[in-house]
Amino acid sequence: ESSSFKGEVSFTDVSFGYGGQKRILKNISFEVKAGQTIALVGPTGSGKTTIINLLSRFYDVDSGEIYIDGRNIKEYKIQSLRSKIGIVLQDTYLFSGTIMENIRFGRLEATDEEVIHAAKLASAHGFIKHLPAHYETRIESGGTNLSQGQKQLIAIARAILADSDILILDEATSSIDTRTEIEIQKGINTLTKGKTSFIIAHRLKTIENADMILVIREGEIVEKGSHEEL
Ligand code: ATP
Repeated sequence: ESSSFKGEVSFTDVSFGYGGQKRILKNISFEVKAGQTIALVGPTGSGKTTIINLLSRFYDVDSGEIYIDGRNIKEYKIQSLRSKIGIVLQDTYLFSGTIMENIRFGRLEATDEEVIHAAKLASAHGFIKHLPAHYETRIESGGTNLSQGQKQLIAIARAILADSDILILDEATSSIDTRTEIEIQKGINTLTKGKTSFIIAHRLKTIENADMILVIREGEIVEKGSHEEL
């Protein structure tokens, strides 16, 4: 149970509706090899987040199966499953505390040096060292004193420190300045390197770089393949 995931993921004929009502996902099937990056694309409300919710077992499928490394995800202890899946959301949860504490949240026993190393890998070190108290700068509740892009860089540093086997990223949609955007892209590349990663993608670059694109519409996969294939 404590051993790590290689990161092979498959959905076979998965259907699901919240509260068993209207079917939100309809017969979703796809296979992902370990280490691949999958871009989930589709209009708002099409079911992208729902696919991710099922993978982390925030909800269970109504029918069909989800496998990780060849085992049905229902056979893993839920804690063990979730501890191996890292999630970077658009609206990252930052608590009131220092930047150091917020990044360390990824792995509580990490030393200051390890936190700073993760921040460097995430391309977050650059903006942090320009803050008045650097890593000791306090984040106000909800992170109101940071930009959306800076919050995402902290979330990436936190996820790099956590070193999960499978990653889920919800790419920011809000406008982010070009320089921060480039840093986020670098950080995400470092974070996802060699790890199975699901990205709810909004940027063309992310979609172009993905190993597989799943185009979702009204709960169904309408297209599947690499950027060249589609
Ligand atoms: P977006 O791009 O806006 O994030 P999405 O593709 O991720 O959209 P989902 O969040 O998966 O879409 O939503 C799919 C459908 O499920 C929508 O119709 C939504 O209203 C519904 N839905 C999402 N979460 C819940 C919930 N907790 N309870 C009931 N219905 C939900």
